[in-house]
Amino acid sequence: MVWSLFLKSHHNPVSHHDVLTDGRSSLTLPSGTIQEERYGEVMFCDRAKVFIKSGKGGDGHVSFRRELYVPAGGPDGGDGGRGGDIIFEVDDGLNTLSDFRHVRKYIASSGEEGGKRRCHGADGKDLVIKVPEGTVIKELESGKVIADMSGENRREVVLKGGKGGLGNMHYATSTMQAPKYAQPGQPAQELWVQLELKVIADVGLVGFPNVGKSTLLSRVSNAKPKIANYHFTTLDPHLGVVDLGSGAGFVMADIPGLIEGASEGVGLGHDFLRHIERTRVLIHVVDAASTEGRDPVQDIRTILKELEAYNPELLTRPQVIAANKMDAIYQEEGQDPLKALKEAFEPEGIQVFPISAVSGQGVKELLYYVNELLKNTDQKPVIFQKEFDPSVMLVSSNLPYTVEKDEEGVYVVEGPRIEKMLGYTNLESERGFDFFQRFLKENGILDKLEEAGIQEGDTVRMYGLVFDYYK
Ligand code: GDP
Ligand code: MG
Repeated sequence: MVWSLFLKSHHNPVSHHDVLTDGRSSLTLPSGTIQEERYGEVMFCDRAKVFIKSGKGGDGHVSFRRELYVPAGGPDGGDGGRGGDIIFEVDDGLNTLSDFRHVRKYIASSGEEGGKRRCHGADGKDLVIKVPEGTVIKELESGKVIADMSGENRREVVLKGGKGGLGNMHYATSTMQAPKYAQPGQPAQELWVQLELKVIADVGLVGFPNVGKSTLLSRVSNAKPKIANYHFTTLDPHLGVVDLGSGAGFVMADIPGLIEGASEGVGLGHDFLRHIERTRVLIHVVDAASTEGRDPVQDIRTILKELEAYNPELLTRPQVIAANKMDAIYQEEGQDPLKALKEAFEPEGIQVFPISAVSGQGVKELLYYVNELLKNTDQKPVIFQKEFDPSVMLVSSNLPYTVEKDEEGVYVVEGPRIEKMLGYTNLESERGFDFFQRFLKENGILDKLEEAGIQEGDTVRMYGLVFDYYK
């Protein structure tokens, strides 16, 4: 294992004007006033950058009792109040992140200073930020996941307010009867975060423009009364419920805009890829009739490459090919696009279904097959793992830990925050391991190991995990 560091490029947050601070414990903002026009279609707003800051803890107070006939009163300075937390909460009434176009700064109020006569300073108010289900909160600079507001996770304290400081009443001892010291409140925490709304759909339609994705979606999900009830569909025209009768069915998403170079962030590509991450089965839609001169086999190869470059895990999901526009094929001699698709992809386990989204031919067979695929895959929707914990990462400057060499020459690293970090980091995943390496570097643990005399190939142990050290 290599202790190397991989840093992503950092883009500066855009400027911001509106601030929402304390005084209100939750937000009510005008919604739906801004819509984004892209490619001539109205897309729902699904990304936002916001600044969040918890409240500072109030300082402890220094004062002494002043009573008649009591010449030297004892210390009676009270404690400071705690600062307000920044809390994210799922609100089922929200479908988009468009509210965050208006307010970009969220600041919880600070705790008040303690007072005389053991008076406890008032606590700061928590600030609750409402988001739609499926919102992923990431640290802006690194893109690391802080929280995924999906499934069971409906409420998450992202930034803790600072603790209030102790008043001088706590510091009287037998030798120090009149302590003039009170503890300062803990500082606030602040962070730029990126919010991303990831559509939760069972099945994603992928394919180049004009291959017939929208046609297929409207064909299989139109005139089904359930659509109107599904809480995404009112705002997002690209989701539909496919009803197969007797309770069977699934949610299908057509997210427009895959273009070549998508994995490098060209154009709409990333928006598309982000949404695909939550789907469990992929349908590749191709224009088998090549009405626009596209080569269906090549198109799928290109898309597979884009998916792999973005997240290799995407390719492990079940996939199927919808060879669309079969009604428009005028077969030339020696050319059979369906055969070419089958020969290219069925050996890789990707079945090919000839369909016509316009006439409906072959569509039923495709849908029942997809339904079977869904039944045989893990039913849980994809939940993103925590990769960044503000309570660990933002208070890490004086991270308490020890580095010791045991009798066998193994370097043992221990500390409560390290234990906590290991508890939520999946070292098996590439992202998790990257995060782990960064944590070690940023907290000076690697430097400490070097100071302790570690050599290449030596062993490091942390809470039951054993690593080899390489530069
Ligand atoms: P998308 O960009 O992938 O969503 O493609 P659209 O659904 O908008 O379709 C692009 C064009 O292909 C439209 O003119 C459709 O009418 C046409 N189209 C879609 N499916 C079929 C089909 O099965 N047969 C034929 N002949 N045309 C189709
Ligand atoms: Mg379309």
